[in-house]
Amino acid sequence: MEFNTEKCGCCGACISVCPNRSLELTENKIIINKNKCDDCGRCTYVCPLGAFYIEGNV
Ligand code: SF4
Ligand code: SF4
Repeated sequence: MEFNTEKCGCCGACISVCPNRSLELTENKIIINKNKCDDCGRCTYVCPLGAFYIEGNV
């Protein structure tokens, strides 16, 4: 799971769908805790701005 900070509009939608609570909104940007992320892909589907992407699958 990779994340393009510049595309993020800080809507918070991804935070509420992450089953592992690996996303946090801090100071107007999203932080991914990669240790908790299992690449389930939910955040990629929910983000209205396409800020998440799976590496090699752009
Ligand atoms: S891929 Fe899944 S576990 Fe990882 S940040 Fe997105 S929603 Fe959370
Ligand atoms: S869903 Fe997308 S735009 Fe909204 S906070 Fe998450 S990464 Fe940012």
